[in-house]
Amino acid sequence: MLTIVIRTGAVFAASLMLAACQTAATRAPTAVTEPAATTPGLADDNFKAVLWQQTAAEYQALALQVYQRADQALAAAIADPQWNALDASERPAAAAGDGIAIIADIDETLLDNSAFSVRQMREPMPADLTPAAARVEFERRWREWALEAQATAMPGAAEFMQRAVKLPKVEVFYLSNRRDEEKAATCQNLLAAGFPVPGCATHVLTRNDAEGRLKDKVSRRQAVAQQARVVLLFGDNLGDFIGNIETTIDERAVIVQAHKDWWGSRWWILPNPGYGSWENILGRVTGRADDFADAAARTAWLRQQKERLLKDCRVPDCRPKPSQPGDAR
Ligand SMILES: [Mg+2]
Repeated sequence: MLTIVIRTGAVFAASLMLAACQTAATRAPTAVTEPAATTPGLADDNFKAVLWQQTAAEYQALALQVYQRADQALAAAIADPQWNALDASERPAAAAGDGIAIIADIDETLLDNSAFSVRQMREPMPADLTPAAARVEFERRWREWALEAQATAMPGAAEFMQRAVKLPKVEVFYLSNRRDEEKAATCQNLLAAGFPVPGCATHVLTRNDAEGRLKDKVSRRQAVAQQARVVLLFGDNLGDFIGNIETTIDERAVIVQAHKDWWGSRWWILPNPGYGSWENILGRVTGRADDFADAAARTAWLRQQKERLLKDCRVPDCRPKPSQPGDAR
């Protein structure tokens, strides 16, 4: 399931600028000044992210780039018995036999849910709802969307998975934070979008906190690893690859760097400017990680983020450099 972040259709248009302006080494949380009363550019804060997802050729190309290059990695993984895509902390003690597993997240990795984001923009959450009531309403809306089973395939994704399962001993496991109640419709959606689903009960692993299938996905990755050697992971969120990612901006950057040789090899990530754990972490900068269901608080939080961005754009410094004598301008 999508996180609560998308549940209010939330992202600010400057998020891509934020990523471009900051480097891992400099992204320590800083004190945030009180937001200006009228920070421009926050209306429809998910608009540009959704527009990009729905219209940009670049988005299509990025997905194709992932799913076309992954064939080569899969061939190398099959040939190398030591190749394993699970972090050492998640691997089982005993070898898992000679089966080969690919684990893929679903939303914004294989299926494009941007139409749901548009739906959220068309019908904003009523301002008078309490955060708890807004969360319930969002859950209702998301489930309604999931049960419709009409999300479309990311470019190249279904074709790659179909090629993969034709290889000897290769299986694809779909590991999503959609809930158990959405599993049947999710399988229907995956099949309709062209993905191979040999068994909905066995190969689509949904979230159920009461049964220990938690948001962080670690236990479910380990369950797959009991059955087969996990060789490739696909996702749009850091949590699709490793646990303990809801920490700080800097610690997340350390995780990425610690696995730098795995990106585009064992780990394949799709872009998602609309929502994700990256945004939850920003919420923690302000100490208001669970504000997303509260429209007024969220607007204030976004204003804070924009103020921070404009004030603290650090290295490389986004501000214009003073011109030097002789500069050709
Ligand atoms: Mg996802």
